[in-house]
Amino acid sequence: MPAAIKRWQPPRRRRSCTKEVAHYQTADWRARRRRILIRDASRCRVCGRVVYGRAAHVDHIIPLENGGTDDDANLQTLCERDHGRKTRGEQRAGKFLDAKIKKGGGSF
Ligand SMILES: [Zn+2]
Repeated sequence: MPAAIKRWQPPRRRRSCTKEVAHYQTADWRARRRRILIRDASRCRVCGRVVYGRAAHVDHIIPLENGGTDDDANLQTLCERDHGRKTRGEQRAGKFLDAKIKKGGGSF
């Protein structure tokens, strides 16, 4: 009998996870995501397109970093395109706000 040959196992890939990515990998989030997709009948809330699998994005209406929650009421189904647009819009809005603050406010 040969010495026990250890089954070779591929090295575990270590992904440098940001907190946000880790959040989307929890079983809790997956269950929530499925629930939102069912609630919205897998339709993008912006364009009404039916989206499946990876194309179906569950979006935080108010982003977490802006004080939004994981509550179902703050979640919506979006297609990849509309989610991308929304995220870019939020980033622009964030920059706009930063600029305002740096300028020292002013009247709205
Ligand atoms: Zn859409």
